[in-house]
Amino acid sequence: MGLISLIVASPAHAAFDPISTEPTAPYAQPVDANVPKRGCAVTLSDPKNAAAGIPAVQVIYAWHEENGNNYAAYVDRIAKIVDRMDWLLDESTNYDQHINLGCRTGYNTSTYSGYAQALVIPEKIEAGVIGGETAADVVAADLAAAGYDDANRKYVVFEDFDGTSQAYCGAVCVAAADEWDSGTAMHELVHLNDVDHAKVSEVPDTLAVNDLMTSQYNDWQMDQEFNNYYDPSETSATFYTSNYPDTRLRNVAAWSFFTTPTCCDVGYSNDLLTAQERTIEAEAPYGYPSAFTPSGGGWMQVTPPGTDAQVSARYYDGRRSLTMNVQSHAEGLVSVTRKPSVTAGQRYKFFARLTTGTSGNVKLRLSWYNSSNTLLSSTDGPLNALTSSWQEYAVSALAPTGATSVQLSVVSPSGQTFAYLLDSLQLNHCNNGKTTDGCRLAG
Ligand SMILES: [Zn+2]
Repeated sequence: MGLISLIVASPAHAAFDPISTEPTAPYAQPVDANVPKRGCAVTLSDPKNAAAGIPAVQVIYAWHEENGNNYAAYVDRIAKIVDRMDWLLDESTNYDQHINLGCRTGYNTSTYSGYAQALVIPEKIEAGVIGGETAADVVAADLAAAGYDDANRKYVVFEDFDGTSQAYCGAVCVAAADEWDSGTAMHELVHLNDVDHAKVSEVPDTLAVNDLMTSQYNDWQMDQEFNNYYDPSETSATFYTSNYPDTRLRNVAAWSFFTTPTCCDVGYSNDLLTAQERTIEAEAPYGYPSAFTPSGGGWMQVTPPGTDAQVSARYYDGRRSLTMNVQSHAEGLVSVTRKPSVTAGQRYKFFARLTTGTSGNVKLRLSWYNSSNTLLSSTDGPLNALTSSWQEYAVSALAPTGATSVQLSVVSPSGQTFAYLLDSLQLNHCNNGKTTDGCRLAG
């Protein structure tokens, strides 16, 4: 921001500061100079005529008389926030995925300020409220009237006035923000894919912590468990995005306004299981859970239906769980049948959520196999006394020499008779390089 920008900033602007704080969890974002420049996926001479070409996100700087037009002062900052939105999408997982950004011709995009001006289009909101809040529907109506009304575009609107951070679809779909940070703007953009706030998979009406779609002011990462609304590893998989009786199924990774996700790079989270192994949610109640195998003391079933409020029994958000009915005569195991591939010497972490209506003890186990499918060794986590609330447990270890695959099991020591519920499994390859063991944090 140069001297001219500083002069443009007016006293009215000083009274309204839209710049908000960037989220910093699960780890700090790069400094501005190191945020990758996303660049333009599509460039048009007339961005109001956007029907041709790929779907894209159009960035708007919205202003009205109250604070005036501070486009020159803010355009670089807005572009940097948009680059951070792209960074957080890419960095949430080990998949490479980006936002398709729409730009206009007439600017030298090899310079950052030229790119910013090509990316960010100023628009005056004529019906903006002086001395009060301008609602998102007023902004959407203004954009539509101005010609920004193409179904091939989603509009991310940076409001330089007392507006509202809200996703709104009327004449046109806008992800509006009057608090400018990448977490807020991306949160609203993801809402435009009809995704609700992130729910804990097993607990009715309970929001997940540590997620962009719950706490965007602190957290920039999207769906670290790959089971709520974002799974780039299996874009045909969909997840219930809200509580029962809402039955919307979504996977933002398949959204046409983003690039197709490709594996693999280094990001915060990853997962080596299939959606079915992670969630059991495709199964009918009382059924036999596919992709799982019991052995020893116990038998399994898809958790029978219950009331809406009963955890994971009906739709808490639509997800079924697996019930293991533990018998006392022997150690009981329920295992993921398939053995995902591993690389010897690298670290892996198995997560699962477990609960019981009574009481009992279980542990998580990683069983390592070689290329002849011979068991080499196993690693047990601590013995956990289960509680009546869904808690996440984890075990982490280095794959031993010679290991090429791993089997995941939940193990109940012999001598117990009780039932527990299992859901939200995940197998991380601990290679993010940003957390202490290279894996996502337990949540
Ligand atoms: Zn929201």
